[in-house]
Amino acid sequence: MNVIAIGAHPDDIEIGAGGSIALHRARGDSVRFLILTRGGELSPPAKRETEAREAADVLDVDDIHVMGYDDTKVPYDNEIVKRIDDHLTEIDVDRAYIHTEEDTHQDHRHAALASIAAGRNTDEVLAFESPSTRSSFDPQYYNSLSEEFLERKIDAIRTHKSQREKKYLEAEAMKGLARFRGRQANTRYAEAFQVIRIREDQTATHELTTEMLD
Ligand SMILES: [Zn+2]
Repeated sequence: MNVIAIGAHPDDIEIGAGGSIALHRARGDSVRFLILTRGGELSPPAKRETEAREAADVLDVDDIHVMGYDDTKVPYDNEIVKRIDDHLTEIDVDRAYIHTEEDTHQDHRHAALASIAAGRNTDEVLAFESPSTRSSFDPQYYNSLSEEFLERKIDAIRTHKSQREKKYLEAEAMKGLARFRGRQANTRYAEAFQVIRIREDQTATHELTTEMLD
């Protein structure tokens, strides 16, 4: 399976889907990170880009692309949709993890809208949450995480050292959210997603059922 994760800023993907990304890599899926800005708060962009690359290494991500839009100024226009679309086509993406529209940060909202438009032909599109996600975020899909994968996620978030002062990035907050989402999904820890599109291939199931009836 070819997977892409699209985040507005360095650290968004790790926070929303870091454990799921580590799971995909452990399963042998290929994963590309697409980050729309270099970030800008609290530290120079170059430093944040370096941290993003370190985090991607922790999660064993195959490759990472940084687009270079200005922080707080991610657009929603034809150009960004086309640029995201080019990445989806280039690696023939099966599943995209993207921002949710239900977010108070304009960069996250625009990233969500541009990703949905670009991913109109992508089989599976799942939207992750962030600390600025609104209460209207309503998850329908969960990836269950073992303690090991949750720790990998937290390790990846820790590489964003320039963001250390942000309380929502504390390991305790990340673990608490994973436990809460785990409760909703009847498992220990989980990451939660809003389904934009998911496709179950029923062919194999159908053959199995027919065989059982014979
Ligand atoms: Zn962000």
